[in-house]
Formats: sequence, C-alpha cells, structure tokens
Amino acid sequence: MKTWRNVLLLLAVLVSVNIVAKPKIRIIATGGTIAGVSASSTSSAYTAGQVGVQTLIDAVPQMLYLADISGEQLVNIGSQDMNDQVWLKLSKRINELLNKEGYDGVVITHGTDTMEETAYFLNLTVKSNKPVILVGSMRSSTAISADGPGNLYAGVAAAASPNTKGRGVLCCMNNRLIYAKDVIKVHTTDVATFEAANAGPVGYVYNGEAHYFTKPEALHTTQSEFDVTNLEKLPQVGIVYGYANCSPLPFQAFVDAKFDGVVLAGVGDGNFYHEVFDVAVKARQKGINVVRSSRCPTGPTCLNGEVDDEKYEFVAALDQNPQKARVLLMLALTKTRDWKQIQEYFKKY
Ligand code: GLU
Repeated sequence: MKTWRNVLLLLAVLVSVNIVAKPKIRIIATGGTIAGVSASSTSSAYTAGQVGVQTLIDAVPQMLYLADISGEQLVNIGSQDMNDQVWLKLSKRINELLNKEGYDGVVITHGTDTMEETAYFLNLTVKSNKPVILVGSMRSSTAISADGPGNLYAGVAAAASPNTKGRGVLCCMNNRLIYAKDVIKVHTTDVATFEAANAGPVGYVYNGEAHYFTKPEALHTTQSEFDVTNLEKLPQVGIVYGYANCSPLPFQAFVDAKFDGVVLAGVGDGNFYHEVFDVAVKARQKGINVVRSSRCPTGPTCLNGEVDDEKYEFVAALDQNPQKARVLLMLALTKTRDWKQIQEYFKKY
C-alpha cells in the first residue's frame, strides 16, 4: 500500500517537473462567445469571435499542469455563421493532428448556437479514438463571471484524461460532459444551456479530472463509415419547420432549388400539415430524400407512426432532432440515395 503511494507520489513529482510527458493537446479556436468582447462587463451586448487563440490559452495558465498545450485559429466567427466549408476544414485538420502530427487530443472552442451540429458532424467524420472535446461559453470574455476560462480548463482536463478515449466527440460545458449525439442547446442565455436530449449527461469534470457514468450506444468516429477526406463540398439539405396551418412554400422552394434532401421539423411525432405532405410526396417522386423529425425537444420520431414511411419512402429521424438529422442526411447522401439504407444509418448513428 505504502509502496504504491510512493510510486504515485513520484509520478506526480515527475509530471510536475516535466520528466514524464504530459498529453499533447491542441486547441483549435473557431470563435463564439468564449472569444467575445463587450464594451461593458455587465451588458448582454457583445460581439462574438474577437479574441484570438493565444489570448484564450493565456487566460487559463492552470491548464499547463494538465497538458502540453498549443493552439491554432481556424476561423473567428459567431457559430451562427458556421458552414459546410468550415466543418470540412475542421474535420480534416483534426484527423491530421491526431493521426499524423502526434497530438493526444483536441479541444475546439466554438460558439454555442450550433455547437451540437459541429459536434455531431465531427463525431461521424473524425477517424480517431483520441479525445475530441468542444467547449464554449455563454458569457463573453469580458463579462463578470465569464464562464469561458472554466469551461476551457474542464475541456482540456477531459481531453487529457485517459478515461475519455474511445467515447467519440463530447461537449464540455458547465463541468458537464455530453455525447455529441445527445447534446442540445436548451436555453438562449443561461450558462447551464446544454442538456442531453433523451439521456442524461454522461459525465462531469471535477478537480481537473473527467469521470463518466455511461458508454456511447451509437456508432461514432472510427466505427463510422462516413469519410470526408476527399470531399470539397457536401450535399444540400434544408430544414422545413412545421406549425398549424403550415405554408408549403419553404418546402417547395427547396424542391425548386434542387436540394438533395429535406428534413421536416414536424409537429408531434414528425407529422406534416396536409399541404406540406403533398409537396413531400412529390419531392420523393423527384428523388429528393425526405427525413421526418420533430420540433418537440425530446422523444423519438417513430418509424411508421401516423405517417406510413414505407409507403411514401420517407425516413424517420428516430432520436435525432432536425438540425442533427440534417447533418446525418448530408453525410448519408455522400454514400447513397437509397432511403432504406439511409434509414439504417439513422438506426446506427
Ligand atoms: N452567437 C454566438 C455563437 O454561437 C453566441 C452563442 C455563444 O457562443 O454562446 O457563437
């Protein structure tokens, strides 16, 4: 017992004097509120994506005890401006860092508005078991009680932890760890804005260490069959929001613009207003893939519920919300247009 304690003590000393190598973690900055600046520390008005990666790193010197940290700036935008081109660039860069440049993990600083979509895209396209963690903040870097530095510290702790390996991509906010497949932004302004849609958080960071309760059920990263290495663009997929007396015009506009796929943020269990349904049936006849999802924040969109998916060749999004169903449909369409095969992807990922 005493010998083990001495070994651990020696290890801690060696790590602190840099004799045992710390994990090599790369921070990729993309902007967001974590890099936002306000004229006043108390105002809610600010501009996202102002501060550079080195400033973010310098603000949290405590991270240097956990890992060998370096950073790079990919873009500096509010995540409302995230797009396919940045996703492709980000995914390819992470694969290089983890598979060719010897990094042990990557932390991405990102705006919170579309963090869940980026996380899910990376979960399906990164080809490594090493940790990939997204962090952001709800308060800008100049606000009283800015949450960015704490979130960055926790994100690096999670990326540096051997416990995180093999879990796919995770978001780390407010000390909570949530799998990319489950994570959703649920509050416009609160620091506790991230929840797991149909599951609970899967772990937490405490005292600079990551702890987990569950393993991911859905396939991810190295198990994923999607590969964007040679892609310069992604198929075009739009989302149509459902409501009472819904206009069919937005859906028709996607059809006229020859989009490859449309996701319905339907009412209830992915139901359509009848005029929208008619456009969806015609879209299928033209070869456009249609995925039914729901505007309800939780619960599955069931296959062959009130809508006969088999008959109309629609795909049910199952556990995916509309914005993540869109990500999966885009990747699915890089491989097939067969709706049955796409339905299988929704079961697996
Ligand atoms: N629109 C900003 C963004 O997503 C604000 C949200 C945030 O980062 O907290 O980048």
